[in-house]
Amino acid sequence: MLDLTIIPATNAAALPDAPMGLRHWIGGAWVDSADGATSERRSPAHGVPVSVAAKGGRAEAEAAVAAARKAFDTGAWPRSSGKDRATLLLKVADLIDRDRAAIAQQEVLESGKPISQAMAEIEGAADLWRYAAALARTQAGDSHNSLGPDMLGLVLKEPIGVVSLITPWNFPFLIISQKLPFALAAGCVAVVKPSELTPGTTVMLGEILQEAGLPEGVCNIVLGYGDPVGEVLTTDARVDMVSFTGSTGVGKRITAAASATLKKVSLELGGKNPQVIFADADLDQAADAIAFGIYFNAGECCNSGSRIIAHEDVAAALVEKIVALSRKVPFGDPLDPRTQVGAIISPEHLAKIDGYVRGAVAAGAHVALGGGALEVGGLGAQFYQPTIVTDVRPEMAIAREEVFGPVLSVLTFRTADEAIALANDAAYGLSAGVWSRDISTCLDFVRRVRAGTIWTNTWMDGFSELPFGGFKESGQGRELGRYGLEEFLEVKTVQMRIGQTRGAWVE
Ligand code: NDP
Repeated sequence: MLDLTIIPATNAAALPDAPMGLRHWIGGAWVDSADGATSERRSPAHGVPVSVAAKGGRAEAEAAVAAARKAFDTGAWPRSSGKDRATLLLKVADLIDRDRAAIAQQEVLESGKPISQAMAEIEGAADLWRYAAALARTQAGDSHNSLGPDMLGLVLKEPIGVVSLITPWNFPFLIISQKLPFALAAGCVAVVKPSELTPGTTVMLGEILQEAGLPEGVCNIVLGYGDPVGEVLTTDARVDMVSFTGSTGVGKRITAAASATLKKVSLELGGKNPQVIFADADLDQAADAIAFGIYFNAGECCNSGSRIIAHEDVAAALVEKIVALSRKVPFGDPLDPRTQVGAIISPEHLAKIDGYVRGAVAAGAHVALGGGALEVGGLGAQFYQPTIVTDVRPEMAIAREEVFGPVLSVLTFRTADEAIALANDAAYGLSAGVWSRDISTCLDFVRRVRAGTIWTNTWMDGFSELPFGGFKESGQGRELGRYGLEEFLEVKTVQMRIGQTRGAWVE
């Protein structure tokens, strides 16, 4: 008998009677695929069909790009005022609030995440639409009035054009809301491709955009796989920019594909995010944040705090606290409001997670807790136990690669230099954390660790105002904050002669 907190199937009444039917949104019309192809998504927790989506091919992807190109080149949106764009984005935010429960429900059914978390994510997404609305009205370029008596220089910011937005399955509604409102605020038009595993809430967002009055062709949604839909969205010459969130491997492939037409590419990729716990840290607070960092979204999170680097004097006490907390975290039926950790996205992904744990054990690591699939009463076993792996060495795959599951690796250190070297010993550089009561220790860490976000004595806080993105192989470009808008803007320099002081070049 596992000494864990497991929530069995308790909310079967919340399952849908029939799967949601999903179609492409192209040029303002909802359409099936020309060949009638569809793909079915079953709830990872419950095993029942929850959506049947049109499965797009090259024809649908190319039609969406054509509609977007037309909307950008001849439509009103790119030339509209910031005020008008903001008004629409604010309306979208209100409609997201109105439909929050329904969106969260579909998100749970397709992704397996817990309902309480999904509700918080949809609320956070609405805030992103409101924040982007503020940016739409406040963005401006520069003026240069000191270039001499007869010259005025202007730097205009213009929408970059048609952008492809390609999103993953782990935070479907939140991640599209980290991209689309910023692109629209900038005056861009978009073609969106969600993961084929989680298309439902992106389609629901399309319906909201239509209700809010977004002109046709300004946002298009094509459902389907990376091959061929993603491939068209990253190679078609009519696309100006690709914004992608997902695995580093696919990010590299997209960069190569986009290079033939020199599109701008913005990437939010993986992480192997370290948290360094110094001996003077508040271990209770650290342990709680570590549990949150590794079990949030079942660890299927680019920001997962999966790599703990603990001072050897406190490592054993820290692990003991994390094990105790891990036993209390409710894993199970994602439709139950008490549940904090739900199902794993697919059986293949569960096998991949388990493979990392087995590989670590074979290489000499020890499992302090968990280490296998979790059977949840009435729901089956597409769940993974809270898992803590100790005696991990830096060269092990579990210490270097993105496991993307509820699996914590614990390494130890003796000196601050050693801790910082371990923290930086990764191909990734998305986020990092430090736990110490000494502000100098924290600031030294902040300055020396190469990551896009650093948390001190906390983990995974996020704000619409603060930029997010990675160093090294964790990506390029930034989302959120004013940088999130800048990504979608092109700079145009204007030099205006306003006097006659310059002599003729030809005498
Ligand atoms: P991928 O990176 O493979 O997919 C993300 C998105 O890109 C999906 O919409 C996918 O489409 C699309 N895509 C795939 N291939 C291409 C291509 N050649 N051109 C354009 N678009 C493409 O993530 P997976 O869902 O397959 O997950 C695999 C692993 O990636 C996970 O185990 C995890 O480690 C990592 N991951 C990291 C994320 C992060 O936020 N850092 C998010 C998700 C996954 P489709 O899948 O529909 O074919």
